[in-house]
Amino acid sequence: MKTGTILGVVLTVAMPAAAQTAAPAPAPAQATAEKVTYIHAGRLLADPTKAPRGNSTIVVRGGKVAEVRDGFVTPEGGAALVDLKDRYVLPGLIDMHVHFYSSGYPLKSRLEASGVDKEDAFVAAAGRAKATLLTGFTTVRDLGAPEPRGIRALRDAIARGDLEGPTIVNAGRMISVTAGHGDANGLKEDYAHAERMEATHLCNGADDCRRATREQIFTGADVIKFAASGGVGSNIAGGLEAQMTPEEMKAIVDTAHSFGRKATAHAHGKSGIDMALRAGVDSIEHGSYIDDETIRLFKEKGAYLVPTMHAFESVIRQSRAGERPAASAAKAEEVAKVVKDSHRRAFAQGVKVAFGTDSGVGPHATNALEFGYMTAVGMPAAQAIRTATVDAAALLGRENRIGRIAPGMDADIIAVAGDPMADVARLNAVDFVMQRGAVRKMAGKVALFPAE
Ligand SMILES: [Zn+2]
Repeated sequence: MKTGTILGVVLTVAMPAAAQTAAPAPAPAQATAEKVTYIHAGRLLADPTKAPRGNSTIVVRGGKVAEVRDGFVTPEGGAALVDLKDRYVLPGLIDMHVHFYSSGYPLKSRLEASGVDKEDAFVAAAGRAKATLLTGFTTVRDLGAPEPRGIRALRDAIARGDLEGPTIVNAGRMISVTAGHGDANGLKEDYAHAERMEATHLCNGADDCRRATREQIFTGADVIKFAASGGVGSNIAGGLEAQMTPEEMKAIVDTAHSFGRKATAHAHGKSGIDMALRAGVDSIEHGSYIDDETIRLFKEKGAYLVPTMHAFESVIRQSRAGERPAASAAKAEEVAKVVKDSHRRAFAQGVKVAFGTDSGVGPHATNALEFGYMTAVGMPAAQAIRTATVDAAALLGRENRIGRIAPGMDADIIAVAGDPMADVARLNAVDFVMQRGAVRKMAGKVALFPAE
């Protein structure tokens, strides 16, 4: 029996005599697959739609939850024991909207862009993915990267266990019309030309938008994202209303669905949100202008709202600090006047919500701040936690794999020091992270990443 203390969390590994002279450890992925771990949880929110349990033991085998038992069960020979008796344990968190290829510091990255090779950008994205995992987010959707093959490669490297990071559901590039939110607006001619050389994501007209959707799937997209409306962050004074036609949106959604992909729409203005909902999107990102008619459409279609309040907070802060171009700052101020009321109304009237931050607009690895923003406009803490677990899993179509701690589910498990329903800010200090059965963090402090 070996016992060690790592920053306050006791790790005990029960090993039979024979195992101590075992052959060298196999490759990490294999070790993960065969490892057995018992977790003693003081409090356990195994299913966020139900009441939390008291003292419990989670048995993890081969990356999956095998059993959840009452009380503290003594581990079998050869199993590791993680002692979280003084911790509150819950499923790994899920963020529906990040951009690992963006730094969260727009002006700085714009200035530095000409010196960044694809390889540099990949390494930086991998670093942000790891930092995000260590704050308790075990699955994310990456909703648009300038390097669709890079984000695909990062997704696969993490899935194989070659790199540490959350499970990634990637969108490739965000589909946009010319001069829309996804175009290379505001760049000088030769830079804009270089940016558009590989612009498979720009489309005009329904047929062309079918092509753009298939192009994203061709380069490895798991989900399709399109810019239904103008964007706050794009450097063009194009407003925030619909930028695509209903035919273009329908072509994208139907093509995504025909390939078994979900479709999600970036949409701020009411015309963009309503048009995308009518076209059959599975979710709306941002949703800045929401009235009663829009709420009725959300409910009729069963679509989710991904509020990304973290991004709104960041954009407004950056604009007022002079860290955004003028066209972007003007739109940020316009949105700031209405967005909280829109989200408050949508939450109060029972629109389905999935947690998402748009990290990459603001800093990475501070995703859990979103819980505080959601509860500040009236969402109960217990529901906010559901949006980042069971509800996000349902939007991904992965409700039988993630979002709960139950037999057969992926062993994505985190812990905090106290009850997060009493204080959601505790989710900013996740001090234990297990992903698919591998312990990724035993304790520590949440930091801004990158630290700038
Ligand atoms: Zn985004």
